[in-house]
Amino acid sequence: ATPLAIASGVQTAARRGIVVATETLFEDAPDVDIVVLDKTGTLTEGEMSVERVHVEGGGPAADSRPISDERTVLRRAAAVETLSEHPIAGAIVDAARESDTIDGNEEDDDDHTADIDGFERHPRGVVGLVDDERVVVGHPDHCRDRGLSISPSLESPISAARADGDVPVVVGWDGRARGVIVVGDAPRERWNEAVETLSDGREVVVLTGDEGAAADRFRDVDGVSEVFAGVPPEAKAETIRRLRTRGTVAMVGDGSNDAPALAAADVGIALGSGTELATDAADAVIVGDDLEAVAETFALATGTHRRIR
Ligand code: ADP
Ligand code: MG
Repeated sequence: ATPLAIASGVQTAARRGIVVATETLFEDAPDVDIVVLDKTGTLTEGEMSVERVHVEGGGPAADSRPISDERTVLRRAAAVETLSEHPIAGAIVDAARESDTIDGNEEDDDDHTADIDGFERHPRGVVGLVDDERVVVGHPDHCRDRGLSISPSLESPISAARADGDVPVVVGWDGRARGVIVVGDAPRERWNEAVETLSDGREVVVLTGDEGAAADRFRDVDGVSEVFAGVPPEAKAETIRRLRTRGTVAMVGDGSNDAPALAAADVGIALGSGTELATDAADAVIVGDDLEAVAETFALATGTHRRIR
């Protein structure tokens, strides 16, 4: 009955988007004491995106300001960022394109790209000519250095974004900051529920190369017992080995630079999407890019293991 139980476990897993890469998964996963979750791409979506836009004198999208102000800020910023390759630029261009699609303004794309002649790339931002206006986009200091004054109504969204671990991108022209675009690598939907389920009977540890607010937002969360911040990719495997002196360790990560850490763990689970997925070093691969499937992997392995014996 043993091979049959395994075959059936593999099949049930596959139906949930979990590919069992090594049969030892059924033996080791039920014994896991510590689950290590990589932050970027596992707890977060792994990609920069625009979370909200604040306009001068107003709040985020939800308040009573006319939508056009926000749209102008986003569109002019995107027109300049089209000429930049920075991940922040990509997020802003995508958001502007999306908001145009939602508003049904796809046809009037005249000002979607700034004049290449006026374009300047600086270490902390960009400048470009849009609608005959010199539009400055970037870090608040970059904008101040280029003559923009930032009003108190924009200072609070700037500090709030930083406190959340997001990046505030100031946009302005004609001597004034007009808005702040908050860009971040957002936590996955329902990540905290997934963590709570995982923490039932196991210690959950978060591992990240980031420091400060981006890491701190995962502290003091139900189910998270520890956050290891400022751990560079090459040190992750060593962290796993140290944790193994405390118990059986599972590592969940996505990027190919997580491969050594996945291999160093008793159980390696690859989660994510795209070509970066580190499948070779994994005992299980979650192809559905679904964080909740991690807890299901443990439940399924436990059930299967019982039937093997
Ligand atoms: P990191 O230190 O995270 O690698 P960078 O050195 O790439 O960041 O950029 C530092 C900061 O400069 C960013 O956080 C952002 O505030 C600003 N910045 C740089 N390039 C751009 C851009 N094209 N658009 C907006 N902001 C930018
Ligand atoms: Mg960088």
